[in-house]
Amino acid sequence: MEDLYNILECKNCDNYEDLKKSYQKLVLKFHPDKQSQVDSDEEKLKSTDMFLRINRAWKILSDPNLRQKYDAAWTQRCLVQDWPIQDEVDVDEFLQEDMEEEEEKSRFFYTCRCGGSYILHDSDITLRLDVVCCDTCSLTIRVLYPDTDD
Ligand SMILES: [Zn+2]
Repeated sequence: MEDLYNILECKNCDNYEDLKKSYQKLVLKFHPDKQSQVDSDEEKLKSTDMFLRINRAWKILSDPNLRQKYDAAWTQRCLVQDWPIQDEVDVDEFLQEDMEEEEEKSRFFYTCRCGGSYILHDSDITLRLDVVCCDTCSLTIRVLYPDTDD
């Protein structure tokens, strides 16, 4: 899970306008069109990667609902990050389960060896939540996401 505030060079107490100002400054700095001719390919690649990360961070932090979820997930992650990681699981290995009456359209689960489940919601995947606890025992897994963005 990425530290989105760090990417935007902000603090988690900054308000929307602060985040927006910082986002606009950074997006100009790293925009592919702004890269100079003298930059090496490696530098260009780094800037492009940064540009994508900035946009991903902004997409989440500019949405009050997602920002709130991100903050909660980040706090939770800080609590469990020292726990031993039982396994690493690709996000693709989670099974989708449609939710008819919930706020979120679907959730994804992966069965723990204890018979319990590791559960990811749509928003968790958007946030790239990477440390998930079993809903039954105290095991945790790391969720691996593909590098490329859609
Ligand atoms: Zn378990």
